[in-house]
Amino acid sequence: MADILVVAELAEGKVKKATLSAITFAKQCQPALGGGFSVLLIGAGAKAAAAEVAGYGAAQILVCDDASLANYVAEQYAPTVAEAARGFGLVVATATSFGKDLLPRVAARLDAAFAGDCSGVSGASGKLVFKRPMYAGNAFGYATLSTAIQCATARQSEFAPAEPSGGSSPVKELAKVAPGAAASRVEFVSLEQVKSERPELTEAGVVVAGGRALKGRFSEVMEPFAEAFGAALGASRAACDAGYAPGDYQVGQTGKIVAPSLYIAIGISGAIQHVAGMKGSKTIVAINKDAEAPIFQIADYGLVADLFQAVPELTAAVKAHKAAG
Ligand SMILES: Cc1cc2nc3c(=O)[nH]c(=O)nc-3n(C[C@H](O)[C@H](O)[C@H](O)COP(=O)(O)OP(=O)(O)OC[C@H]3O[C@@H](n4cnc5c(N)ncnc54)[C@H](O)[C@@H]3O)c2cc1C
Repeated sequence: MADILVVAELAEGKVKKATLSAITFAKQCQPALGGGFSVLLIGAGAKAAAAEVAGYGAAQILVCDDASLANYVAEQYAPTVAEAARGFGLVVATATSFGKDLLPRVAARLDAAFAGDCSGVSGASGKLVFKRPMYAGNAFGYATLSTAIQCATARQSEFAPAEPSGGSSPVKELAKVAPGAAASRVEFVSLEQVKSERPELTEAGVVVAGGRALKGRFSEVMEPFAEAFGAALGASRAACDAGYAPGDYQVGQTGKIVAPSLYIAIGISGAIQHVAGMKGSKTIVAINKDAEAPIFQIADYGLVADLFQAVPELTAAVKAHKAAG
């Protein structure tokens, strides 16, 4: 029997929704391991945030609230997380930038084997089998880890956010573990965040994404379209690399992985590296002037049209439909 530690992600003193996917992942690992799970909150303001995750069935909420942890720096966080993980059989987080950065360092400190970006998990009798996408999602690898403590991150789009199960988990405070020499060589300078009224790309129910075809008119065409749908904005790497869209809009193998209810690809060819980041979407719509574009092979609905004509027309039609109630 082994217990699981879920490492929560905080932003401005609040638990990020991504944490709830890690809780779902932990719950799916539980039957094979036979133990319970706990949640670790680390950062400035972590104590106040504990109430946000107290109703999900955790055996306990471990809290390390320290002013020196106000800004995330892996070298500052990893020693405390590794210390908190002792006694657990599995340490998990969601494979966000935070989880991808932190958990391998924690694994190294614990001498633990690591399975990153898992899209599924199965197993029995204490042995977990982690499913991991490979080759831009064109193949899956199945990994078992043989160290006493294991570490894994979960792909957010594959694990629905956990629902509260009631109750109130007890809170236990932990002291920060002094970071090693590596931390003295890393200094937090600043965090440049894109503030937007639109939903977060990885959490939105509707994503509209634009490609290279939009050229310098990305904002002019895509922003009113996204607004009409109440959607998050995404982009292909070609559009980001060309400077038409900000880098944090990028969807795909080397960008964000999304799985909204509706994904509308505008002037995107459908290269495998882009598709790797959005093929989990429930309904895919593509607008492209080339009827042979590969994106139509995975689209549920396709429109062969010039985007500069079709998108403003659709934007106006959606707005008119909304106005008519
Ligand atoms: C290691 C690696 C990792 C990568 N990671 C990513 C990634 O994470 N995300 C990603 O997106 N890409 C990634 N790429 C790049 C990927 O291979 C493609 O180059 C990229 O996705 C192409 O972007 P695009 O579809 O916008 O552009 P293009 O391939 O140039 O396609 C533009 C499309 O717009 C259509 N079009 C042109 N004009 C109009 C018009 N007026 N109206 C309607 N349609 C029009 C064209 O028919 C065409 O299909 C990666 C590549 C590599 C090698």
